Amino acid sequence: MADVAERRERLIEVYREASVCTMCPLSEGRANVVFGNGNADADLMFVGEAPGAEEDRQGVPFVGRAGKLLDELLSGIGMRREDVFVANVLKCRPPGNRDPQPEEIETCRPYLEEQVKLIEPRVIATLGNFATKLLSGNPTGITKVRGTPQIRELGGRTVFLLPLFHPAAALRTPSLAETLRRDIATIPDLLRRDPGAMAPASDDRPVVEAAAEPAADQLGLFGG
Ligand code: URA
Repeated sequence: MADVAERRERLIEVYREASVCTMCPLSEGRANVVFGNGNADADLMFVGEAPGAEEDRQGVPFVGRAGKLLDELLSGIGMRREDVFVANVLKCRPPGNRDPQPEEIETCRPYLEEQVKLIEPRVIATLGNFATKLLSGNPTGITKVRGTPQIRELGGRTVFLLPLFHPAAALRTPSLAETLRRDIATIPDLLRRDPGAMAPASDDRPVVEAAAEPAADQLGLFGG
């Protein structure tokens, strides 16, 4: 694709479009569109659910309590928010923080797709059920799929998709926080691997199963 500067410029254009979006009724109740922020050329992208009250107020994703936990977990793997790009499935706050509705997700989806295409991440960590189901294209719940990287074609490139518990769920349930911390600890290793060297998933098998096949094994991609 285009070089970093062109991709960043185009991302700013998409941000401008999104910031005046009125394509769904959520635009009527918002204080700010929460487009996403961070490194426009990040190898690692996080995708959450939707802005909460504080995010809506500031126009920045994950600035409330869940965001503080995300920052702590990132710092545990030697990364800062400036190193990654953080976005959400929905760019506007649903009233009372209710669940995103299917039609809202569909309407907002092109913004996220464009973000993935322009940022060109190698690893996309999906936080919670909504982001995981949308980007994996699979309805299996987060409890079953968390922590296991999948190979996906997103934004025209092969990426590792890593489903994670949502930090807000981890705040409510301490045992989930420990699982989330352990799953996030696998990210540095994933970032060192080349998702493009893995066969694109022709079905829903997770990467670790695909890696058990001789071809992937011979490439030394796993277990080494
Ligand atoms: N929860 C999310 O999913 N996204 C945010 O930006 C904040 C809280």
